[in-house]
Amino acid sequence: MAWRFALMIDPAAAGDPRTDFAATFSPIDPAAPALSVGELSTQRGDGIFESVGVVDGHAQEVRAHLDRLAHSAAICDLPIPNLEQWREAVALAAEHCGPGENVIKLILSRGVEHGPAPTAWVTAAPAADFSGPRRHGVRVVTLDRGYDSGVPARAPWLLLGAKTLSYAVNMAAIREAKRRGADDAVFVTTDGFVLEAPTASLILRVGDTYVTPAPTGGILHGTTQVSAFAWFEEQGLTTAYRQVATSELPRADAAWLVSSVRLAAPISEIDGIPIPVDSALTARLNGYLLSPRD
Ligand code: PLP
Repeated sequence: MAWRFALMIDPAAAGDPRTDFAATFSPIDPAAPALSVGELSTQRGDGIFESVGVVDGHAQEVRAHLDRLAHSAAICDLPIPNLEQWREAVALAAEHCGPGENVIKLILSRGVEHGPAPTAWVTAAPAADFSGPRRHGVRVVTLDRGYDSGVPARAPWLLLGAKTLSYAVNMAAIREAKRRGADDAVFVTTDGFVLEAPTASLILRVGDTYVTPAPTGGILHGTTQVSAFAWFEEQGLTTAYRQVATSELPRADAAWLVSSVRLAAPISEIDGIPIPVDSALTARLNGYLLSPRD
């Protein structure tokens, strides 16, 4: 991996009034060891993160990512991040990105076992090439997430609405999808509702309406999905958050996986059933998602 930049952050308290946090940043060699062996992010996946897309040096939707970082921190009982400090760190990382598509990761870990404070860092690296999926689409399979739609309310300690570092299950689902001859997965509940993909939100077109599963605690509220809905509405199109039954998927008039670095990848097949791909609309949507967004 050709890293562009890495920065350790000494996390400031949420109420710290400083307007310049440069003294809390330590740039490091991204290829050199940087974390303690007692780090709880690596030992237990105990931490949260964000992946911010960067296009030609512009970090996209920074405010929405920072708000979600704070939301994840609250769910996980981590100290509330100082968003001005993180905003400055993202701006510094973006300066090192150069032209093209890159990704800045923000990581806030519970810290070192018995240590004094959380550990925080930011990295910048070239983005993976998603031009193929954006143009040609992806085949997905539905995979049982193993719980019903009441679990987020019944068991908040599962942290389902937080973007935690514990992505082993998400990665296992993508491997299972590939074993089944698909490119990606869509998680569904045991009582027959659609959740999200392991690393993306799902948008469907049902008739004239662009629909996404309501983020009622069981899934992440995707920043890209929010941007896409704003764009659909600007085009005079109708959007809706609601429960989506798994049985609706194969009847969708179009569908997309959307996330910050992939942007919009049209779904060409769900569980082996072809789904119409709207190439023209997808190209326009990705044109918008690649334009500078704050
Ligand atoms: N859902 C999950 C589980 C994700 O991991 C992601 C992104 O990585 C998303 C949804 C989409 O979020 P965003 O559009 O903010 O990247």
